Amino acid sequence: MVACGADGVLEGNGTYGVGVWKHIRRGWGVFVRHTKLVAGEGTHVKFWRDIWCGEEALKDAFPSVFLVACDQEASVADLMVLSGDQVQWDVTFSRATQDWEMNCFEAFFSRVYSARLQVSCADKLWWIPAGKGIFSVYSFYKSLTCRPDSQFPWRSLWRNKAPPKALFFTWAAALGKILTTDNLRKCRIIISYWCCMCKKEGESVDHLLLYCEIARALWSEVFSRLELNWVMLASVVELLASWAIPGGVPQSSVEDGPHMHHVVLMA
Ligand SMILES: [Zn+2]
Repeated sequence: MVACGADGVLEGNGTYGVGVWKHIRRGWGVFVRHTKLVAGEGTHVKFWRDIWCGEEALKDAFPSVFLVACDQEASVADLMVLSGDQVQWDVTFSRATQDWEMNCFEAFFSRVYSARLQVSCADKLWWIPAGKGIFSVYSFYKSLTCRPDSQFPWRSLWRNKAPPKALFFTWAAALGKILTTDNLRKCRIIISYWCCMCKKEGESVDHLLLYCEIARALWSEVFSRLELNWVMLASVVELLASWAIPGGVPQSSVEDGPHMHHVVLMA
């Protein structure tokens, strides 16, 4: 059985606690970042700590108010008082409000009273990537694999005068789709994990093209010939994108972007 613990972490127990669910709950941290709570009756929603009213938790939006709250662990239901179909909030504080704090407290109550609750419904976990809040494996996969397309210079890549074969390889590498051993193993091809060049680490796209000691030596040679001081970025796509972003090339001008593409791709 799987239950959501007091701290919002999935807990597995019983027969499956050490098996399937143990692996599934490892992904909870990533999963929960794509969700928000829709408060209904409010018993499962923490008033201060969960995101249910606005874009952030009330404790983060109003830290000085949270500091003097009497019950910092209260649920929405604990503090909600129904008067007919009107919702009132019974939030108590450990001391009286000071004059200089009035604006902050006003903003806090204004935020809380602006929340529209369907108190006759159960609390819901809303899946943000899908329009209707309903989880689908496809939308989760998409949110995990989507790349910052807007930052990537696709247009300048395809306008480059390098041979089409080189352009296609760069494009595939940026998408992480070239035939490195980690990609081949994902396709269930039985192959050694190690990098074919250094045989010291796993062969991922970023390792093979950026971090492998042999690839690094090649990059150093290219940069020294171009007289560039360079700090290698985390991934191939970030590296390509940096050549088109003003300031993305250390100690170089903006015009170096296409130039760098051209030199490296021609090489
Ligand atoms: Zn290597």
